[in-house]
Amino acid sequence: MARFSCWHPSPGEPALEAIEPEQLLEHCRERLRRLDLYPEPVRLEGVRIRVAPLFFRLPRFRRYHGYALFRTILLRRPPGCGASDDLVTHELCHIWQGQHRRWHMLFTYATTRYRDNPYEREARWAVKETVKGQPAGEGVSDRLGDCGRLASGGESIHSCREK
Ligand SMILES: [Zn+2]
Repeated sequence: MARFSCWHPSPGEPALEAIEPEQLLEHCRERLRRLDLYPEPVRLEGVRIRVAPLFFRLPRFRRYHGYALFRTILLRRPPGCGASDDLVTHELCHIWQGQHRRWHMLFTYATTRYRDNPYEREARWAVKETVKGQPAGEGVSDRLGDCGRLASGGESIHSCREK
C-alpha cells in the first residue's frame, strides 16, 4: 500500500502537525497561487478542514484518504504523517475548480472515468508543479495516489484514495 508523504518543513517552519488548519490552508493556497489555472486565486472564505476518521469507515469511503466538498476538506488522518500538504493541496485545488467550474465539474464527474477526468489530472498536476524542493513531475502523484469520484449527491465533488 502506498503511504502519503509527510511534509518536511524548511528550517524555521513549524511541523505540519503543529500548525493550525487555517495556516495549512494558507500554505496550500500559496502553493496554488504559483499556478495560473483560473482567473481568480482560490478563495479560503468558509473553507475548512475536518479530520473525520469515522466518515472514512463507511463502506463506500473506506479506501479514501481525503474528500473534497465545495467548502470542506475531509481527511482520514490529521495533518502530519498520514495527511500530507500534498493531499490538502490536491483537495484545495478541487475546491478552486469548484469555485470556477462547479457545474462543469459535476457533469464531468458524472460522465468521465476518474482516471481520465480532467479535474483529477489537473489537481495531480497542480501538486506536482508546486511540490517543494522537487522539480515538477517527480513522484508526487505516486505518493498521492489516485482519486475517484463518488456519486453520492449533495455537494460532494470527489474523493482521493491510495493506490
Ligand atoms: Zn482528486
